[in-house]
Amino acid sequence: PRTVWDLPTRSKIRVCVRKRPMLSRERERREFDSLTVHPPGPGSELAHSTTVHENKLRVDTSKSLDNHEFQFDACFSERDTNTHIFGAVGMPQMIDHVLAGHSATVFCFGQTGSGKTVTMMGLSGQHDGADGTGLYGLATRALFERKAAAQAAGGYRLAVLISFYEIYRGCVRDLLNRRQRLNVRDDAKGRTWIAGLTITRVDDATAVETLIQAAHAARATSATAANATSSRSHAVLQVRACLDADAERALANGGGGGGKLCLVDLAGSERASDAASADQSTRIEGAEINKSLLCLKECIRALDAGQRHTPFRGSKLTHVLRNSFMGDARTVMIANVAPGSASVENTLNSLRYAARVK
Ligand code: ADP
Ligand code: MG
Repeated sequence: PRTVWDLPTRSKIRVCVRKRPMLSRERERREFDSLTVHPPGPGSELAHSTTVHENKLRVDTSKSLDNHEFQFDACFSERDTNTHIFGAVGMPQMIDHVLAGHSATVFCFGQTGSGKTVTMMGLSGQHDGADGTGLYGLATRALFERKAAAQAAGGYRLAVLISFYEIYRGCVRDLLNRRQRLNVRDDAKGRTWIAGLTITRVDDATAVETLIQAAHAARATSATAANATSSRSHAVLQVRACLDADAERALANGGGGGGKLCLVDLAGSERASDAASADQSTRIEGAEINKSLLCLKECIRALDAGQRHTPFRGSKLTHVLRNSFMGDARTVMIANVAPGSASVENTLNSLRYAARVK
């Protein structure tokens, strides 16, 4: 298979794992690399760039025999770049799906420090490397490229609109407008929207990147033992493609139909007790995060099972994303995992979560 969407399954959900490289701080602490993505296979270097064939991951919990093996739609190793992952999870196909008026969503899930933000934003300081640009940039560039083809084929003009917001402690905050607090509304038709959310029309990928850079600096961060700049909020980049004729309505009130791509950098999945500095406020934060991640799993499962009732209302995250799950929606979850042996407990929790999503 060229991408995870070419795999022989009828599910609209694909679950992948991405192992990041060992960091020097992990080596300095004499941690060993607990994760093996296999089969590495001779000559796989070439095949790697065009196919999805490594779908198994082994976790060594210690140097003993107590190992665990997991299988997902795809497992990416520390050698796989953002560019490779972009292709292998079928982002180009998902973008065409959006241009055709449907929803597509990519989640990055995992403990703080596992590589979620690098996957979405890119590796800072790497301007020309294959990891320098993350899914945000790769997706918007591809969207503008493919938009022209869609317009030519369909004989219409499309507008691209973006919003960027975070969900922190059950509140929605606009990252394109000084983190203003916003309310989520439902209408009688079961449509959900965020009242007052900034919607910006963009004409090229560079404009999106500029907005994201400015907005990212405003994301909620708080020092924890796990990572000095741990992200405790879910960040959602929403990219809509609607008919140009509907753009005014879409800008005014979020209506107007069209397809929607959501790229979600989820809050760190580690348990609240992991934070050595777990004061009252940090614990409330942690409880809210746990609740939303559990609810997200339930919603994705319900969706895949074709259940009529999906517990969207169980958390702000799932409530806000409700429309993205409806209709002919496609979803990719990337579970990011850290290879250092000190992370094994969190890694196993992340992998078990990911394994239960489908
Ligand atoms: P998270 O967003 O999950 O908390 P980050 O994306 O911030 O994690 O990554 C944590 C650390 O690991 C950062 O120092 C980052 O530079 C490094 N890192 C993550 N992924 C990679 C990668 N693919 N290659 C090199 N370094 C990485
Ligand atoms: Mg992050």
